[in-house]
Amino acid sequence: MSKVLVIGAAGQIGTELTVALRKLHGNANVVATDIQEPSNSPVLDGHFELLDALDGNAMRHLVIENDIQQIYHLSAMLSATGERHPIKAWDLNMHSLLNVLEIAKDEELEKVFWPSSIAVFGKDAKKEQCGQYEIQHPSTVYGISKSAGELWCKYYYEKYGVDVRSIRYPGLISYKTAPGGGTTDYAVEIYQQAIAEKNYTCYLNQHTKLPMMYMNDAINATIDLMHAAPKQISVRTSYNLGGMSFTPSEIAASIKERVPDFKIDYVPDYRQQIADSWPASIDDSYARRDWGWQAEYDLPAMTKEMLLHLNALFINDYY
Ligand code: NAD
Repeated sequence: MSKVLVIGAAGQIGTELTVALRKLHGNANVVATDIQEPSNSPVLDGHFELLDALDGNAMRHLVIENDIQQIYHLSAMLSATGERHPIKAWDLNMHSLLNVLEIAKDEELEKVFWPSSIAVFGKDAKKEQCGQYEIQHPSTVYGISKSAGELWCKYYYEKYGVDVRSIRYPGLISYKTAPGGGTTDYAVEIYQQAIAEKNYTCYLNQHTKLPMMYMNDAINATIDLMHAAPKQISVRTSYNLGGMSFTPSEIAASIKERVPDFKIDYVPDYRQQIADSWPASIDDSYARRDWGWQAEYDLPAMTKEMLLHLNALFINDYY
């Protein structure tokens, strides 16, 4: 089994991906790293090290010392936080990726995974069923960094043969780890608040439809893409990936079916503008065709699972 390095392992995706990769590759074959040590996290149930993804020398040393063959590179500054710190977001998102790509080239690693985002698309892109090769023109620094990152991945693949694979994740929803400063974080908070307070004030207006996905589907997609044969991968920038699309009022309605006294109100803030620049739904036909992608969760199935698990965590019985 290949030895795997996860960078940014303590985050929303990294926590669940590390657990899944340890099941797949064996506990001893996955090195989880992050710039900070999480408290109470399953990533600590195995080899964990501190690593700043901007420190290329430390990253290279860790790769060589541990005989790493694959890297999952997840650390980034997300869309909402990035708008408050644009230069820092650019520095982290770009330079950490270039560190990974350089090391993958020099050390002849087997594969790299790096996530892009639906944020590569801006207002000039098609709103509904936004296509794989739709015009991008992102309007956030996060989207600009992802758009440039996709081209760097393609460049390293074409020029140096680095087998780097990527997915444009939509907003991801999970109950295990808090989201890290994205524009779609509301879709996690709304469930937590429905359980804890039975009400939620949403920072997007009720009609803002965005592409979303339950974390289980995102993890499965990541693993499926990384296990596809190289000849199946026709997209070397990043694959569009669709799960479901809904508005805040639609997710609230699905919660109300299980928590009848749940109430929501809307006070849009700066994140409304970011959300308005993104597509409402995604055409993921390339991922379906190339490596058999198919989402399992729709909104009712996700709401059922989120409330069930959060209820268990909060020891409540609204479900
Ligand atoms: P997150 O913010 O939850 O986690 C990122 C992790 O990176 C954190 O644990 C943080 O401590 C770590 N980190 C920050 N700076 C670092 C550094 N210098 N060195 C090492 N680690 C550092 O993010 P996430 O939601 O898990 O996202 C992971 C990846 O997926 C990112 O590239 C993000 O752009 C992408 N993505 C996420 C979503 C989503 O909805 N969560 C959607 C689209 C794309």
